[in-house]
Amino acid sequence: MSDAGPSDEQRAWFEQACVELHERYAPLQDGEPASYIPELSAVDPDRFAIAAVTLDGQQILVGDVEQAFTIQSISKLLVYGLALELHGRDAVLAKVGVSPTGDSFNAIELDEATNRAPNPMVNAGAIAVTDLIAGASVEQRIETMRSMYERYLGRRPEIDHDVWASERATGNRNRAIAYLMLSRGIVGDNVEETLDLYFAQCSVLVTVADLAMIGAIIANHGAHPLTGERIVSREVTRDMLTVALTCGMYDYAGEWAYSVGIPAKSGVGGGILGMLPGAGGLATFSPRLDAIGNSVRGLRVFEELSAEFEMHLFDPDRPWRRTLGR
Ligand code: GLN
Repeated sequence: MSDAGPSDEQRAWFEQACVELHERYAPLQDGEPASYIPELSAVDPDRFAIAAVTLDGQQILVGDVEQAFTIQSISKLLVYGLALELHGRDAVLAKVGVSPTGDSFNAIELDEATNRAPNPMVNAGAIAVTDLIAGASVEQRIETMRSMYERYLGRRPEIDHDVWASERATGNRNRAIAYLMLSRGIVGDNVEETLDLYFAQCSVLVTVADLAMIGAIIANHGAHPLTGERIVSREVTRDMLTVALTCGMYDYAGEWAYSVGIPAKSGVGGGILGMLPGAGGLATFSPRLDAIGNSVRGLRVFEELSAEFEMHLFDPDRPWRRTLGR
């Protein structure tokens, strides 16, 4: 394997494929933006963007790449990494398992035998993980979270205060999940504070280009592809990639692993973050969601790119290592 990224020709081929997929799927009107968080339905449903970042730092940007949107559930993956770094695997595993559920992301369920939340990518698990981001006050806890985002984004993260307030005002299902976990001893008794932090982490604004860079960082096992700076430890990225592959796409995770085979995390803001270990990050943004909560156009783009460039993790030759990166 060479250290060089894709050749100009390979890059042009990949970029052309992204442009064509953008054109092909832009007219697709299936699905609706999330509305259970009222403020999320204020988004323009037709926005659409695709971005990729290779490990040698080349960027491919197509469509509404400057459009900011809330990161939502994609935050669960990053905060999971943070909790693992702060507390180690055993302490995190004591609260949250790693079993895919096949149930919806906001299911009110805990593991019967252990009381643990099933996995960190459903709301229960994510809230339990957020509970582990400790601090003397909610401000201090938010600051810990903000500085994590700052490392990934290379700038202070901006929180969409309208979305944050909207989640706080309407998040009673998440409240129910959190109080159930309190009754089972999985989270501490500062439940409202933890929920506030969880809603804040979901309300951070990103662009598709940010997501592709975050994907490249994780795909590079935690070292920033441009600066070499360590953003998250190597061991932790292995665990992040594993839960992304097995649980990242909600109850579609099994089908996704089978047909796309790229560790990924989606959010109800319309983003999908994909990570190709050793190659780069791939991301899409389109707010129209299917019934499961995944971006309709995003799914199509990932399916098509994975097939055309043989990006599935278990493709025997993994030619994308040469095509898209190292
Ligand atoms: N903030 C959202 C919620 O808790 C995140 C859900 C998601 O993106 N799936 O409902």
